[in-house]
Amino acid sequence: MKPMAVGLMLGVGDDPRESLRKATEVGVDNVQLGCPPDQYLSGSGSETLKRAIQESGLTVTTVFVGFPEESYADIPTVRRTVGYVPRETRAARVAKTRQIADFARALGVDRVASHIGFVPEDPSDPLYGEIVETVRQIADYCKGNGQLFCLETGQETAPTLLRFIADVGRENVKVNFDPANMIMYGAGEPIEALQLLKDHVASVHVKDGKWPTGQDQLGREYPLGQGDVGMERFVQTLKAIGYTGPLTIEREVSGEQQKRDIIAGKRLIERLVQQ
Ligand code: MG
Repeated sequence: MKPMAVGLMLGVGDDPRESLRKATEVGVDNVQLGCPPDQYLSGSGSETLKRAIQESGLTVTTVFVGFPEESYADIPTVRRTVGYVPRETRAARVAKTRQIADFARALGVDRVASHIGFVPEDPSDPLYGEIVETVRQIADYCKGNGQLFCLETGQETAPTLLRFIADVGRENVKVNFDPANMIMYGAGEPIEALQLLKDHVASVHVKDGKWPTGQDQLGREYPLGQGDVGMERFVQTLKAIGYTGPLTIEREVSGEQQKRDIIAGKRLIERLVQQ
């Protein structure tokens, strides 16, 4: 893969060949897989997906972990439902994470990533220590698989995330930096955040978005170049911090609009990489 190759965040549906075609059709050679449905996590389903990926010629750079009960409707709902923060689902979600890490290993993928949920800003909050311990357990499991465990950004500020990574104290815990999430969650100016987190960034999402306009609301996602990230500065800053990994476009709409926006976004990003 070329340095700063454009990639795509891709969900896999009931027909994996058709899903993977979405990536080859827009001309990328690498993808991050959204959380694979259960049918692919074991047995013949896993083999079917593995074969479809091999046939597609795509490189899978990361597999994402996610959970069906999660909702991103607004900030209080995210706080209540996402990641390893809710106590009642935590043990089951850690078990599912291990299963997905093993699935990724079977595909030869050395990065697993997740929205871990809202890490409390206050380290004396009892939840803070619980999440530190949970991420340690997951990181240690991934280490046994030879994998990094990457934290998707956005739900906390960069200083909170830095402190959290230091408190977890595991070398294989890294960041999947999503500049739009920083904006959409109102978690801080993304370029500044990227500079603060630079030593921990293993992968990035190329996504755009606008700041929230109401209390507890999430900002909206926009096509690349139409939100508040500042794509030119984002790509320049990635170069400045020495990032050479893939630039994984994430566009969270569907159908023809998604395809159009990805093609236009890819053209924009490739031009900015050349500059
Ligand atoms: Mg993202």
